[in-house]
Amino acid sequence: MEAMEAKTDYQPLLKSLGLKSTPKRLAMLEMLDGEQAYLSPEDIWKKLKRRFKSIGLPTIYRNLEELEGKNVITKVIHPNRQLYYYFCRHSSHHHHFVCISCKKVQDFTSCAVADIEREIRDKIKGKVVSHIFQVNGLCRECV
Ligand SMILES: [Zn+2]
Ligand SMILES: [Zn+2]
Ligand SMILES: [Zn+2]
Repeated sequence: MEAMEAKTDYQPLLKSLGLKSTPKRLAMLEMLDGEQAYLSPEDIWKKLKRRFKSIGLPTIYRNLEELEGKNVITKVIHPNRQLYYYFCRHSSHHHHFVCISCKKVQDFTSCAVADIEREIRDKIKGKVVSHIFQVNGLCRECV
C-alpha cells in the first residue's frame, strides 16, 4: 500500500480551503476525526449540544454540507438511505469500505478509474472529471 498524506491539523486545513475556523466547525471535525466510524447529522447534533447549548440541527446540516463541499469530510450513502458523514485522515486518492453494521470505515487504494477512463474515452468519447466510489459491506468483526 502506498503511503498516505495525513491531514489532522484542522485550522490550516480550513484556512487553505477558504473556510473560517469557527468553534463549531472545529468541534465537528474533532468529533468526526475521533470516531473511526460514520455519524449521522443527528448523532453529531446530540454530541455537540453538550458544548453548544443552543445549537440547532439546521446549523449542523449547513456546516456538514459546507465541509463536504470542500472535501474536508466524506458523505456516506447507506443502503438504508440515511445520510452519514465521515472524516478521513488521508488526502491521497483512495476509496472507502463502509461496514453497514458497525459503521466502521476502512480505506483501500484499488481504483478502477483507469479502465473506466479508457472506456469512456473510446466508446463514449468523453472525459472523466471526477468519480465517486464507495463499497458497502460487513467488516471482519461483523461477517
Ligand atoms: Zn479514507
Ligand atoms: Zn463492522
Ligand atoms: Zn478512484
